[in-house]
Amino acid sequence: MSFEDDETPCTYVGSFPKGFGYGPEEAEIEGPVNPGEEKPRILLMGLRRSGKSSIQKVVFHKVSPNETLFLESTNKIVKDDISNSSFVQFQIWDIPGQIDFFDAAFDSEYIFGGCGALIFVIDAQDDYMEALSRLQMAVTRAHKINESIKFEVFIHKVDGLSDDNKIETQRDILQRATDELNDAGMDNIHLSFHLTSIYDHSIFEAFSKVVQKLIPQLAVLENLLDIVISNSKIEKAFLFDVVSKIYIATDSSPVDMQCYELCCDMIDVVIDMSCIYGARDDGAFDNESASFIKLNSGTVLFLREVNKHLALVCILREDGCENRGIIQYNFKCFRAAIQEVFVARNKQANKSTGHPQMDLLVNGQNDDELDSDET
Ligand code: GDP
Repeated sequence: MSFEDDETPCTYVGSFPKGFGYGPEEAEIEGPVNPGEEKPRILLMGLRRSGKSSIQKVVFHKVSPNETLFLESTNKIVKDDISNSSFVQFQIWDIPGQIDFFDAAFDSEYIFGGCGALIFVIDAQDDYMEALSRLQMAVTRAHKINESIKFEVFIHKVDGLSDDNKIETQRDILQRATDELNDAGMDNIHLSFHLTSIYDHSIFEAFSKVVQKLIPQLAVLENLLDIVISNSKIEKAFLFDVVSKIYIATDSSPVDMQCYELCCDMIDVVIDMSCIYGARDDGAFDNESASFIKLNSGTVLFLREVNKHLALVCILREDGCENRGIIQYNFKCFRAAIQEVFVARNKQANKSTGHPQMDLLVNGQNDDELDSDET
């Protein structure tokens, strides 16, 4: 593995946050936080003991699934303040029996108003009838206030179910939930369903899908990734939110779970290595750091930081790795294009973004075409 320093100055790219995955603990909600923030904002709702805190701890705080056995149950409305260390803003809301959506103390205008997606967690190992009626209440109320909210149902703890049982439970929940909405005349509301467990990568995969729906520039990001991989002899590329290991975009080839898991492990390894051996005192990643890891299978993993929250992780064959200079050069074009996308996103209210241009080199070309400081 190598950590490579590149002398080209880059003024706007930050480095990985110092407190990887160990953001501040939960705090009681106080009011609007960063109202102008453009990050995807997600609410996590569900009955007590459905697994909300566990999901939050495992995805955003690097707690191992087994440790969640000893978590205290959520019994109040809490906000998990990870907004400074992640691309995603995230809030967690318990919907125990006593919460009345029509109570003046429950500020639903604020809660649902700025929210991009509402994830409702249903414990698949328990009787889910009450959860379904709470789901319907939450969805109806939220939709009245904010018609653009995406509704995502996590059929959770499916690790305890057999494969047949998983399919049957999903079918039953889907049927009942949509029937209830139709009966209430709300058939225009769309619910998406995901089978999840904290004991495998399904929870990260489901979160990735949810977050991707909230990124209007997703098609542009996918297109940029497609262009980069085809010019750099890369087989698969993921754009990761480093703190959570959610991928916010990937190229258009199908996602293989093993590749995704490999890339997640790569992030862990690089963070651990740079915390222990990094040149900087605080152990944080340098904004020009990169890492290549060669596996005994002939596969090479490549990681490079894109900005404060995001990193590009790629999988390539060993022979594609011969011209590292070209990969590094193309990465820089990609990073500049991504910055353009996010700058344009912030200005989007008045202008259309257009597609940023990247003048890439094709892997296989002669390295002479690169400036000397790029090789
Ligand atoms: P909350 O009240 O909704 O925040 O629920 P918790 O996060 O406290 O979880 C309640 C229990 O469910 C804990 O004992 C967790 O270990 C367990 N749990 C959470 N997620 C899963 C999962 O995916 N599979 C299994 N088998 N148990 C889970």
